[in-house]
Formats: sequence, C-alpha cells, structure tokens
Amino acid sequence: MPFPYPTPLSLGQPEHGKVPNMIKVMPVDELFVPMLFCDFCGERIRDASMALIRFKNDPSDVAGTEVLYAHKNTCEMKLEAASGWMELRIFLDHLSNNVGFPAKAMYEAQVERKRLGFPEM
Ligand SMILES: [Zn+2]
Repeated sequence: MPFPYPTPLSLGQPEHGKVPNMIKVMPVDELFVPMLFCDFCGERIRDASMALIRFKNDPSDVAGTEVLYAHKNTCEMKLEAASGWMELRIFLDHLSNNVGFPAKAMYEAQVERKRLGFPEM
C-alpha cells in the first residue's frame, strides 16, 4: 500500500507517493553495512537519539502504516503531514522486541559483529 501522502524525497520520482526504502546496505572497507537514511534530507542518520520516526496516526487503519525516518529538530519539522511520532531509539527497541531480538541476543550479535571485523560506524 503506498504511503498516504508524498514525502519530500518521493516528489517528482516515478514512484510518487511511495516511501523510498531508506534502509540500505552500503559497502564499507569491502564489507556490507546496513545504514539508515533520513526521508527528508537523504543524509545518513548517525545518532538514534537525534532522530525519530513519523507515521500516520490513524487507529482505524488496521493494516498499519509505513514510517518515515527523520533527523530531530530539522527534517522532522518538514514532515508535518505525518501526525504520529516516536523517538528512533524507542522505535528500534520496540522493533527488536517485536521481531524476537531481545537485548541479550543483540549484545551477542554485537560481539559477533566486532569479532568479524565490521567497522564501528
Ligand atoms: Zn534529515
């Protein structure tokens, strides 16, 4: 289902009205590293405490709604059409819980990531 309103990055694109996928896997030092990008400015989100998500806050939409990622205090202000919001760090906590990835398992994955030599980003 397309996002209910155009986002700044989707304006003028063939997929007008569809949220671009702002989670990408980027090549870094011959490895592939997942990264998150702001839906408004397109820049990478580097600090979860300085970002949030916006979404259409409609309890009658039982199918759910897609989310937009934005830098706090700058880009988020330009996404006012989305009525709901949540700090990114809280969103990620809920998401990890809802996909069965609790803190202990996340810690173990972090140890494994470091053991494999992935760079600290
Ligand atoms: Zn931004």
